[in-house]
Amino acid sequence: MIDDDSVALVTGASSGIGAETAVQLAEAGADVALAARREGRLREVAEDVEATGSEALVVPADVSERDEVVRMVADTVDELGGLDILVNNAGVMLLEAVADADPADWRTMIEVNLTGLMNATKEALPHLRDGGHLINVSSVAGRVAGETSSAYSATKFGVNAFTEGLRKEEAENGLRTTLIEPGFVETELAEHIPDEEIREGSKEMLEQMDVLQPADIARAIVYATDQPEHVSVNELMVRPTEQA
Ligand code: NDP
Repeated sequence: MIDDDSVALVTGASSGIGAETAVQLAEAGADVALAARREGRLREVAEDVEATGSEALVVPADVSERDEVVRMVADTVDELGGLDILVNNAGVMLLEAVADADPADWRTMIEVNLTGLMNATKEALPHLRDGGHLINVSSVAGRVAGETSSAYSATKFGVNAFTEGLRKEEAENGLRTTLIEPGFVETELAEHIPDEEIREGSKEMLEQMDVLQPADIARAIVYATDQPEHVSVNELMVRPTEQA
């Protein structure tokens, strides 16, 4: 359960799902550390967190850099007095067909979506045992690969595999793990797609249906986290109703 003593760390908290999750966790009582690269945006989210009466800590970090991940976790524990909930949400979606893809984009996605999440999990693990909670934000693309999502899906399938293996390793230590698998959510994610045609096509698809808002996914994260200690919600897939 989340209470006034809970401490959460949310990566990718400068926009979209992460920003909204930070605020909803704060509304539920948690103090929240906010991590991402854009410090100015994190400071704005920190004001929203503090408006709920909870404490906010801004920890600028690039999750693809292992030493920054180590510092991000250490600063959270030092400044907020512990760590009960880690939300590994930072991610990039650089959709490209394999034939046209820039392998540097593959590397970025692997280092942010997968290695960054793995490093943050490892650093946080000693603090999360005995009742802590790990939330890993995957995707519908972590279950089904599609055209142009092969590499992005490879990272998200990787997130699912890593989370399930870890769940088995740490169940007896009292760690709860939740995979969150969103469908289409209106955020900045698609704005970074390098291929203009794919980027515009993605935008059009989002405009054609009543897509999810970041608050819809944040609610799922708070639901999974705010359970009694013997309840582990391991996986939640949340799509817009109209998404096939
Ligand atoms: P946004 O682009 O709004 O948010 C992505 C966040 O990740 C930003 O806060 C960004 O912050 C952060 N980020 C990116 N690269 C790094 C990095 N190297 N180090 C630290 N932080 C980084 O998109 P969403 O809110 O949609 O994305 C959140 C998660 O949800 C992602 O994992 C995404 O894959 C997943 N998802 C999203 C879906 C959607 O339809 N929107 C569907 C399924 C899953 P900054 O740039 O400041 O570093």
